[in-house]
Amino acid sequence: MIKENLNKIKAAIPNGVTLVAVSKTKPMSDIQEAYDAGQRAFGENYPQEMRDKHEVLPHDIQWHFIGHLQTNKIKYIIPFVTLIHSIDTANLLEAVNKEAKKHDRVVDCLLQFHIAQEETKFGLDLNEAKQLLDSELFKTMENIRICGVMGMATFTDDKVEVRKEFKHLKAIFETLKKDYFADQPQFKELSMGMSEDYPIAIEEGATLVRVGSKIFGPRNYN
Ligand SMILES: *Cc1c(COP(=O)(O)O)cnc(C)c1O
Repeated sequence: MIKENLNKIKAAIPNGVTLVAVSKTKPMSDIQEAYDAGQRAFGENYPQEMRDKHEVLPHDIQWHFIGHLQTNKIKYIIPFVTLIHSIDTANLLEAVNKEAKKHDRVVDCLLQFHIAQEETKFGLDLNEAKQLLDSELFKTMENIRICGVMGMATFTDDKVEVRKEFKHLKAIFETLKKDYFADQPQFKELSMGMSEDYPIAIEEGATLVRVGSKIFGPRNYN
């Protein structure tokens, strides 16, 4: 099933868009099955879970951290993480930079923006991001690299609303690109779209889509 699901989704995704298979809460055997079908980028939300899976599974897997990250848990993922999608405060970015320095790494990060109507979702607004990028502190951070932005749309069947939120994120991306990263080719990623809305996200310019349940089936939280 996992292989068929993956193939169906990959066939619908244009070149230049990376599929991140979101495997949070799913067993290693599911990830191995997706890996055997050719999938290499996986997304996880919980630092210890990601570390445990990393230790056991093939080492050419690219691990994307996509959940809310607490500063005291950064240490579990920094040695190997490929991309942190969920930088939502200046404080978190500073802590990631510090930990990355200990490991002599430059860690790729996305700034997460709050684009949904729900208050529960995390993320910066444009002013907060500008404050961060303008700060003296940011200029001293040599062990992180900002590669783009991430956002989650409102959980709703209203496709017009979802599209509007993705357009908003794309506009934020363009503004930051122009004002801060014009000469930095690594700033190119727009992480948006999940199982229910990734086709809209791709139409609106996503370069990374994060798809879980459409690949692995519904999650069981207990
Ligand atoms: C869980 C999660 C996903 C995947 O959700 P699905 O609806 O199962 O595709 C994508 N992005 C983030 C940030 C998530 O937490």
